[in-house]
Amino acid sequence: MLDRRPFREHDLRAELLLDDGDCVEVLAPSGQRSKQRFAGGLTPLALHAFAMTPTAKGLRLDEARIERAWPALHADLTRQTVALAATAFARHATGPTPGDATVFLLLGELHAQVAADAEPRATPARLVRFAFEALDHGGHAPVLDRCARCGAPAPDGALVTVDPAAGGVVCRACNGGPYRVMAADRAALRAMLRGEPDAWREGAVTIFARVIEGVSPEGAKVLARADAVFARR
Ligand SMILES: [Zn+2]
Repeated sequence: MLDRRPFREHDLRAELLLDDGDCVEVLAPSGQRSKQRFAGGLTPLALHAFAMTPTAKGLRLDEARIERAWPALHADLTRQTVALAATAFARHATGPTPGDATVFLLLGELHAQVAADAEPRATPARLVRFAFEALDHGGHAPVLDRCARCGAPAPDGALVTVDPAAGGVVCRACNGGPYRVMAADRAALRAMLRGEPDAWREGAVTIFARVIEGVSPEGAKVLARADAVFARR
């Protein structure tokens, strides 16, 4: 469930990410009321099985049942924010990919990992990795280990600048970029992208949002909003 909003008095409009990678808009008649036909009130923090009928006005959602739920996602604001932000990221930043289930699978994996995190302090790192993998899959992986323009390597200990328009680090010879990223922050980001959530540092999600704002302005906004929630923990 990527998104849902009230429509008319009792209905809902919803946007679904299907297991074949396609995104579809559906109308759920009485969706605001019928908890029986639409299990869990169509919560976004669950995997559903949907029954839909094509009509002249588009797809009608007849029934939804929860196939898999992750109750731990409701346990605290960090987990919930990571899962919802990843869902919004999938909606805004990747779009439909019919016939390609990658983003659907990445999102499911994220839900499971976040729910299983024993201690959610480092959980925002999973959001960074999810965003990276979704962008990478679309051919827009941000570049953090070398200059995105000339390919000159960026040594691990170096303070670098990032140009969102170039999609990553830009060296001085290529005129640099508007954002500075400290060596420790870049090392932490790279570790998170490798799947090491313990590398999480405060502010990392915002730094990553800046790096990707050129290739995915909407995705960057989603990440920045999520990081504002993490910062208040
Ligand atoms: Zn360069």
